[in-house]
Amino acid sequence: MFAVARTPDEPRRYGHWIDNEEVDGTATFTTPDPATGTVLAHLARGNKSDVDRAVASAKKAFPAWSRTDPNERARLLWKAGEAILADLDALARAEAIDVGKPISNARTIDVPRTADTFFYFSGWATKIHGETIPVRGPLLTYTLREPLGVVAAIVPWNFPLLLAARKIAPALAAGNTIVVKPPEEASLSILRLARILGEAGLPPGVLNVVTGFGEDAGDALVKHPDIAKISFTGGTDTGKLIVRNAAATLKKVTMELGGKSPNVIFADADLGAASKAAVSAAFYNQGELCTSGSRLLVERRVHDEVLDSVVAGTRALVTGDSLDPRTNVGPLVSAAHLERVAGYVEKGQAEGAERIAGGGHGGPGFFHEPTVFAGVRSEMAIAREEIFGPVVSVLAFEDLEEAAAIADATDYGLAAGVWTRDIGKAHALAHRIQAGTVWINTYNRFDAAAPYGGTKQSGYGRENGFAAIEEYTQRKTIWVALG
Ligand code: NAD
Repeated sequence: MFAVARTPDEPRRYGHWIDNEEVDGTATFTTPDPATGTVLAHLARGNKSDVDRAVASAKKAFPAWSRTDPNERARLLWKAGEAILADLDALARAEAIDVGKPISNARTIDVPRTADTFFYFSGWATKIHGETIPVRGPLLTYTLREPLGVVAAIVPWNFPLLLAARKIAPALAAGNTIVVKPPEEASLSILRLARILGEAGLPPGVLNVVTGFGEDAGDALVKHPDIAKISFTGGTDTGKLIVRNAAATLKKVTMELGGKSPNVIFADADLGAASKAAVSAAFYNQGELCTSGSRLLVERRVHDEVLDSVVAGTRALVTGDSLDPRTNVGPLVSAAHLERVAGYVEKGQAEGAERIAGGGHGGPGFFHEPTVFAGVRSEMAIAREEIFGPVVSVLAFEDLEEAAAIADATDYGLAAGVWTRDIGKAHALAHRIQAGTVWINTYNRFDAAAPYGGTKQSGYGRENGFAAIEEYTQRKTIWVALG
């Protein structure tokens, strides 16, 4: 059912990245090429001593980096953006092959948006300032906005490069140094990014990378006394564990967690555009996207018409090798994840939902067809739980009231879409839905300038925009006697 025509790459060995050098770890582990299931890389399996070494390097680099002229920090971040674009082909290939995402997406979104993130935060480096505050008495009172120190970024596997950049760029612009823990499933693009930044002139220790598993390398970062903040993107249960573990050292934490986002189509919408976007919202990046429009809510009187278009659009998607430029849907990231997604498809059928497209899965590698379920009700697991794969649940609603109720009938609150030509209705629903982001007559728009993050069980804290600079700085208040 699924075909991969290429010969798998020879596996390569990778170390950690500490002090601008590749450093061997004490132990190693392997990651597969999701399209073929063969070994892609041997990676250093970071432990507490590797983390101690990386944190010590970042701590040593902090005083000089935090005092570096902001114009110089800006120049280096801009240069990093240019170096990322210059390496587009190799970075895109690394990301596509390691994650399983279509190479066309890696080339047009992951890598260019990563460069954008560095360009955007380069601009902030020279604009981070405090305030003067009028107070009672002959006093001058002002604030400084200072970096936190050594911060840590813990990153998931679906967009490792871009999500790491959303943490690295603002952290460095604000004068922090950083240790990154890539996802164990897909570390290659972040290791390559670190090397590119080192070659662009980032001083040793400002950015370190420790590869390995969450329970050892990740956990050691979370508990490390010299780390001031954890910026985490990943699953909600992992996020809760990290918050608990970070409490002992009172670290700041930001949590970008899971989602089960509603994409709501009213009868008066441009149904062609809405249906087309619904397919992409559900299946972009194999549905391995925190904001995936995994619940498609359709007004009952156009339900059948929209469903037909969505099914036709879904059947037209090409599922195949991540490195084939014609591919729309690549393999899932791992065998374990494929099993999890396939388990949800079985559960959906057992709960009485109607599978009307897709469902097939298998090798070589970890492929799963884009899958559409109709007749889904809010209480079903496939309507409530994050599947994080190419499965969309279609639910019918009567009016705005019912759409709002179904949209919020989930523990998550990350994002939502609203499709209607009635501007009042669009804003009314956008205000009601509990989500960090709402798209009207569009879906999955992101920009380094626009704040992004979750509510409810989707987390707290914001990335992108000035909101991110706030997350990586703290205010100091200074009082000067004038008399
Ligand atoms: P995950 O929670 O399993 O892992 C994320 C990262 O946390 C990995 O680097 C992992 O090694 C690390 N980790 C695991 N246990 C840890 C521990 N005890 N201490 C420290 N670190 C630990 O998530 P995943 O499977 O990699 O990614 C999928 C999840 O990420 C989905 O739930 C998805 O919605 C979420 N996600 C959210 C956003 C967002 O912006 N809100 C973006 C992308 C992905």
